[in-house]
Amino acid sequence: MTRVINFNPGPAALPLPALEAARDELLDYQGTGMSIMEHSHRGADYEAVHAETKALLTELLGIPDTHQILFIQGGATMQFAMVPMNLLAGKSADYAITGTWAEGAFKEAKLVGQAREAANTKKDGSYTRVPTQAELQLDPDAAYFHYTTNNTIYGTQYHYVPETGNVPLVADMSSDILWKPMDIAKYGLIYAGAQKNIGIAGITLVIIRKDLLERSPKTLPKLLRYTTYAENDSLQNTIPTFPIYMMRNVLRWVKSEGGAAGMEKRNRAKAEMLYRCIDENASFYRGPVEKDSRSTMTPVFRLPTEDLEKKFVSDAKKQGLVGLKGHRSAGGIRASIYNALGPSDVEKLVAFMVEFAKANG
Ligand SMILES: *Cc1c(COP(=O)(O)O)cnc(C)c1O
Repeated sequence: MTRVINFNPGPAALPLPALEAARDELLDYQGTGMSIMEHSHRGADYEAVHAETKALLTELLGIPDTHQILFIQGGATMQFAMVPMNLLAGKSADYAITGTWAEGAFKEAKLVGQAREAANTKKDGSYTRVPTQAELQLDPDAAYFHYTTNNTIYGTQYHYVPETGNVPLVADMSSDILWKPMDIAKYGLIYAGAQKNIGIAGITLVIIRKDLLERSPKTLPKLLRYTTYAENDSLQNTIPTFPIYMMRNVLRWVKSEGGAAGMEKRNRAKAEMLYRCIDENASFYRGPVEKDSRSTMTPVFRLPTEDLEKKFVSDAKKQGLVGLKGHRSAGGIRASIYNALGPSDVEKLVAFMVEFAKANG
């Protein structure tokens, strides 16, 4: 068996030990004679997995007592709607528009109630940076301020936490949760689909400041109310048990690799290597993103022609480097280098890039 180096944007590469653990106990989970998938979500075996997953998240992200973990289905996209449904409370919310996902969140908020643009960095049909703090036109009376910490498709990332005074900060961290140590106390609500940095598709992590739960209208259907999840430890109905189990396996691996600080070290090393290669071969590779906004998770770059980009993707695949095609809306090349990818994986990509530029430049 040969495993490729997987640069897929999501679902994305998983740490090998997380997969190996799942393989080893797939048929017989801890001597129970069945897989974890076949256990009741209310039984002691699954409950231990559930509790450990929350404990690992709390430890690795430093989640304070003021905040609570919720597990919700429907992906990050469901949160585009649940956030305004639960938090608007009759007011208007501010959105920073920095890419396709931010646009999607903004659209849903406007379906539910009132929302306004606090910033928009679209230029010439694309997004090549995030706004500075000074550019944010904040409504001091907003219900919350929503932003997308890493713009997966456009390869931009905030390298500061916006200051919003008393207005709660809401962040879509789907593609960079746990990429480094984070100050959770600064946020009113964080959400992240698991399938990029912390697990597999099927579950979304929500971290909410407890006082914000009071805003949830009682008129909302039960599964659309954050309070339902908060009051039932996310076990009000059948939770997708296997995605939680995989999240636990991934988090165990993160812990064994030095936790959030360990992730930051390897992620910075990977991103530096890749951007250095782009900058040193600037006559061939072009990074469209402004330097201050470059993503550590999903770097994007262009080649001189679209034909060369196609060739790049197919030649890379022949060498076991897969998933490098940019999103259909942005084009170009995207190397998603989430936590699970190691520096040696990016080293191989960079070696390929240097060779490809020599042969085709
Ligand atoms: C992938 C992604 C989404 C969409 O996630 P789903 O789980 O497919 O709904 C939303 N926001 C960001 C930043 C993403 O990277």
